[in-house]
Amino acid sequence: MKPPEWFLLDKSESVCKLGCMSKENFNGTPMMIEISISNDGIVQLSVAGKLIDLSQFYISSKLVFSVNSINALFRCLKIVSVCQGYHDKNKEQPFTFFNDKYMKEVCIVQKDAEPKVVIRHINCYKVVPIGSVSHTCKRCIKCKSRRNERMKQKQLGKKENENPLPGCNQFNDIRSVLSNIAPNLTENQHTLLCSQIMASNLKKIVMV
Ligand SMILES: [Zn+2]
Repeated sequence: MKPPEWFLLDKSESVCKLGCMSKENFNGTPMMIEISISNDGIVQLSVAGKLIDLSQFYISSKLVFSVNSINALFRCLKIVSVCQGYHDKNKEQPFTFFNDKYMKEVCIVQKDAEPKVVIRHINCYKVVPIGSVSHTCKRCIKCKSRRNERMKQKQLGKKENENPLPGCNQFNDIRSVLSNIAPNLTENQHTLLCSQIMASNLKKIVMV
């Protein structure tokens, strides 16, 4: 018996696919968590389209069907947590470089919770290791050390090796325009709009 938050996505003779939405949402959109169970017991989990290695959660990818096995599988899946991105709390030296690797998003963990601005790697692992306190995957957390490296370089007076990143300029340009035309919006609203405009530009580039 499936838990109520899971819904049927597809069912054929060979496979049954179920989905549920993550409790976290990013720029207003939750992530789709999908599980497929084939009739020979093969289990596959994906989060936002990324296939997840179940062994990191000590969950077998081969289900032996029994009276309790489906219930047990869903109980085990409760330990899988979605990566919430890196919450940059450093107000003095905020993370400011955005390029083809990092995105800035507004994350709301639960309804009525305070939105937080997070940085996410484009190849985010989507899930965090068991017991993670930061709720940030190992790839997204790397932006913290990258920021620290940059600050160190600046402090040492070294010339930046990299050219200004186009994504960074574009983000800041859009933000500057938004600040002028909509000065009453909050920082989170500016960030959300900037992210959406940049994502829309990216889609156009891909389509071309
Ligand atoms: Zn991540």
